[in-house]
Amino acid sequence: MPDFEGLSRRGFLAGMAGVAGVALAAGASSSAQAAEDKDGDKVTPEQSLKWLMQGNRRWVKHDIKRVDHTPPYRDITKGQWPIASILSCADSRVNPENIFDVAQGNLFNVRNAGNVGGAISIGSIEYSIGVLRAPLLVVLGHTSCGAVQAAQRALRTGEMPGGDIDAVVDAILPAIEKLPADQTLDEGIWANAGYSARQLRRRSEIIATRIRSGKLRIVVGVYDIKSRKVTFAE
Ligand SMILES: [Zn+2]
Repeated sequence: MPDFEGLSRRGFLAGMAGVAGVALAAGASSSAQAAEDKDGDKVTPEQSLKWLMQGNRRWVKHDIKRVDHTPPYRDITKGQWPIASILSCADSRVNPENIFDVAQGNLFNVRNAGNVGGAISIGSIEYSIGVLRAPLLVVLGHTSCGAVQAAQRALRTGEMPGGDIDAVVDAILPAIEKLPADQTLDEGIWANAGYSARQLRRRSEIIATRIRSGKLRIVVGVYDIKSRKVTFAE
């Protein structure tokens, strides 16, 4: 991502007024990317979501095709045209390219334990949304999430796991503390994914602006490790 280094936050925000501005903020080397950005806008949020759902159905059936949604006239050694930005858990069983059966270059992945929306996650997502023009943002929780489980345990017992795992638990606690005391793990997982999505909208003007303009949709889903199916919230 050569453009990332030259991208100052001030320039980035100023550039959000238009694609040309973003290109300027991203540096001279990005003029080619700026031209692609217009094409990036041609993939609608609905089209992107449809591709992901189709891919997940193939993954469920073990009918893996690794479908490549990069425009055929584009070369991923020269740029990237992700169809979606995905905030998912670092869990080793949650690999978005597999789960959505798509090729390298199709998904901009941001992963951390518990799919939480801290500053580094938001900044990474802003790049994918503001510069790369990804039309869809998926917050993807998953069944058997150890991070949510740890937060529920901390809520129940008052004991923190220790080390910097505490930072993960602290980020999840606000998402689950209003749930009933006898909350299930699945309830915690859905609440946490929904909370992360709200945080992204609330804390990022870039994300909120793209949603308001209809160029971006944010969806919440949960991946079931046993059935391999992703269920999206209505
Ligand atoms: Zn997890």
